Amino acid sequence: MRKKQFKAESRRLLDLMINSIYTHQEIFLREIISNASDAMDKLAYTALTSGKADVDRSKLAITITRDPAEGVLTVSDTGIGMNKEEMEENLGTIARSGSLGFKQNMEKTEDIDIIGQFGVGFYAAFMVAKTVTVISRKYGEDTAWKWVSDGADGYYIQEAQRAQPGTDIIMTLKEDTEEEQFSRFLEEYEIRTLVKKYSDYIRYPIRMEVTKSRKKEDSPEDKPEYESYTEEETLNSMVPIWQRSKKDVTQEEYDSFYREKFFDFQKPLRTIHAGAEGIVSYKSLLYIPGKAPYDFYTKDYQSGLQLYSSGVMIMENCAELLPEHFRFVRGIVDSQDLSLNISREMLQHNRQLTLIARNIEKKIKSELSNMMENERESYEQFYNAFSRQLKYGTVAEYGAHKDATQDLLLFWSQTKSKLISLKEYVDAMKEGQEKIYYVPGENRERSSKLPQVKALQDKGYDVLLFTDEVDEFVPQTLMTYAEKAFCNVATEELGLQTEEEKKAIEEKTQQLKGFLDFVKETLGEEIKEVRLSAELGAAPAALVSATGMSFEMEKYFKRMNPEMPMPTQRILELNPEHPAVQAVLTHMTADPQKARDYAVLLCCQAKLLADLPLEDPAAYTQLVCKLMQ
Ligand code: ADP
Ligand code: MG
Repeated sequence: MRKKQFKAESRRLLDLMINSIYTHQEIFLREIISNASDAMDKLAYTALTSGKADVDRSKLAITITRDPAEGVLTVSDTGIGMNKEEMEENLGTIARSGSLGFKQNMEKTEDIDIIGQFGVGFYAAFMVAKTVTVISRKYGEDTAWKWVSDGADGYYIQEAQRAQPGTDIIMTLKEDTEEEQFSRFLEEYEIRTLVKKYSDYIRYPIRMEVTKSRKKEDSPEDKPEYESYTEEETLNSMVPIWQRSKKDVTQEEYDSFYREKFFDFQKPLRTIHAGAEGIVSYKSLLYIPGKAPYDFYTKDYQSGLQLYSSGVMIMENCAELLPEHFRFVRGIVDSQDLSLNISREMLQHNRQLTLIARNIEKKIKSELSNMMENERESYEQFYNAFSRQLKYGTVAEYGAHKDATQDLLLFWSQTKSKLISLKEYVDAMKEGQEKIYYVPGENRERSSKLPQVKALQDKGYDVLLFTDEVDEFVPQTLMTYAEKAFCNVATEELGLQTEEEKKAIEEKTQQLKGFLDFVKETLGEEIKEVRLSAELGAAPAALVSATGMSFEMEKYFKRMNPEMPMPTQRILELNPEHPAVQAVLTHMTADPQKARDYAVLLCCQAKLLADLPLEDPAAYTQLVCKLMQ
């Protein structure tokens, strides 16, 4: 029989398929099954619209048959079938969307690996089969046709026999090579796994004869003998949990689906089962995990949601569906509006997908806020695991996403001794309090003993104690929250002084100019300025940064790059009312050496309070001993 050539386009595609070192060969089965499912959809639709009610829905099924001895795998369906012209049209050319999408992808990208995620269509069979035979009988016609091709050579079509309408895709697999084991696609276990992985939610049963074992009927109870037998089994679960109505699914079912799907042994903290109809229709099932995966904060972690199109998985981690600041969310999205053949580039510009992503972001935000309000304990568990991600999300891109995240942040409240939100802080602000106070430090205990913090405490003002490195970037990015400015207690003026107090300090500064110069001269280069402050409460002295960069930030940058010289300019603030400060003043003329020693001592104390190292601890102890004698 004379062979017909594939159309030129199709030939090139076939060459690509056959010759590519393709790592996702396994998806051929998904493609063949999805075509079978489409064919049954078409049959059901035709029956419905033609008014003929002679299609028995219960007979619509896909059957997989293995023949390991001959190396043949067959996928049969009871769908609409094809006649000769349709075979010619559909299998002989690449006009079909699936294959076309694949071809465009191949031309655009060298990265063959990516393509495994998209629909590649009927030709995918040639990745694993040396010969593909299609026997099909169209619904409503009596003649069946056989289409045979061994790839690039072309194909032929001849008349054939088939008892019922429907299609068989008969794949004679390629011989195994050292690198590639095509015979694995004939193993029961492998097929079962692939169906579960890619086609679990096909709405028609996918059946296969499977081997089982049972006790022999007449074997004795104490010495049972077993025999194996085969039985047809449905491999797929058909209705996905997210397509079921919320009220029909128990929390246990949601939880166990989560554990199996996302390999987490812990229960999720929250399940979000939602969907939309309208401009875009989709169902989503999202989970808030209770614990960060071990690789969550590394490059290895793949975030994104699983993307399905009408029950067929098209992408394992669709990052476009999930904003970076919520990348801890696990889950799936199913939308019939997306075609199986969508490519990665198309995804990025897909309007439907953008709409879905936006809805999902809103939904996650509102669920988390709700959790924060009503299930504080769970929320704190969540926050423990993922707070960094939320903070990174807040500061990323100069705060572009802060509206989604700032209300979800919690910080440690000094007065309440627990985590509170910025809103809770502002709501509890005292009359007259203008700023949101925070202090960065490695250790909350120590931070709360800072003289500035004490001074605020005396006024009844709360201070947020920051311990995470990224914390400090949050106020710097937000600038304000609820129209209140942030104030770094350790570096900025607290703004507690009244006009009179300010005036008094100014006058005192004039008066004590000689004294302040004396201290400055004593301390040398290290201190940029010595000044008086009325904001120190009961403490004699404190160090503040002159650059606006806090000491914590300075330490952070030093850790990041130890080579980098980071001379933070420091200001020593003195409390003129304090007896220790007055002692320096008293000795200044009578015993200048003693006054100098006292000044150094005050500066050392201020450093210790600020959690800064003393450059020369030995000199410090010698000085203390000298003064004790
Ligand atoms: P797509 O599924 O995107 O249309 P494919 O390359 O997967 O592209 O399939 C090409 C065409 O071949 C299908 O559109 C369909 O018309 C036909 N076809 C493939 N498999 C079957 C089948 N099992 N039954 C009926 N028609 C089929
Ligand atoms: Mg297809």
